[in-house]
Amino acid sequence: MWITCVAAKSMNKYLETLYPSWGQRFVVDEVLFEHQTDHQHLVIFKNQQWGTVMALDGVIQTTEKDEFVYHEMMTHVPMLAHGSAKKVLIIGGGDGGILREVLKHKQVERVVQVEIDQAVIDMCVQYLPGHSNGAFDDPRAEIIINDGVKYVAECDETFDVIISDSTDPIGPGEVLFTSPFYQGVKRCLNAGGVFVAQNGVAFMQLDEVTTTQKRLSPEFNQVTFYAASVPTYVGGVMTFAWASDNKALKTVDEATLQGRFEAANLSCRYYTPAVHRSAFALPAYIENAVNGVAS
Ligand code: SAM
Repeated sequence: MWITCVAAKSMNKYLETLYPSWGQRFVVDEVLFEHQTDHQHLVIFKNQQWGTVMALDGVIQTTEKDEFVYHEMMTHVPMLAHGSAKKVLIIGGGDGGILREVLKHKQVERVVQVEIDQAVIDMCVQYLPGHSNGAFDDPRAEIIINDGVKYVAECDETFDVIISDSTDPIGPGEVLFTSPFYQGVKRCLNAGGVFVAQNGVAFMQLDEVTTTQKRLSPEFNQVTFYAASVPTYVGGVMTFAWASDNKALKTVDEATLQGRFEAANLSCRYYTPAVHRSAFALPAYIENAVNGVAS
């Protein structure tokens, strides 16, 4: 049951509150939905520049206009690097964008998605239907409403690719940046598999990158990051954590990626094999922080 709806019909500006002294502002043309769910404050509104926008606990999660950048890079980089993933686990991802992109890989036989908040799924299906685009009804997909940290601690199956599409490490998302979560991911990942996770905008959240590096490193032979520029994740490039015991996955050559990309018959607006490869070339301030070198 959702806590009483907070009437927001009069809201005509949305101010993101991720950072205490700076943030982006949206003119709200129409509030489509607002609720304090059992887990977080959920609002979905229309904006002339970005289309329909969804925010959780004061942080922009996704917009119609630029969602393709994040969902393509979060999905096709690990999927095409792996090359033959049949079982995929998604943690979070309630808007359905990651699930939509994973299911485009026809060799995928089963996707388990563990989302803590049913309200996010329901409202995104209703107000952001293009994100999931029917993915939640795909027979290969199993949707589980649970806390991701509990699921990976207890689940009795393993996966080739695990994608953590969580909120920032505040509120319910906080546990998805902890050592117990990463240990659970490790126990659920097949040998030769790869784990990726949204890891914040490094220029603004560099401590998130270094903390993830420290907490993931004991679990995997290789921990690094790749990046993409997502316009409404303001403050610079968005980083994605990458962890695998198979170091070869990170350096799959462009020709091989191109072959897999064509075989998958993907049509992307941001991802290309060249962008895939270059995404791992990190700016010095991130590289230095990750290597523990004072920048
Ligand atoms: N692309 C966005 C970003 O980079 O911030 C994330 C989008 S997606 C909407 C984030 C999802 O994580 C939400 O649906 C939220 O409910 C879910 N979530 C947060 N904490 C969770 C947890 N502990 N277990 C499972 N899902 C969680």
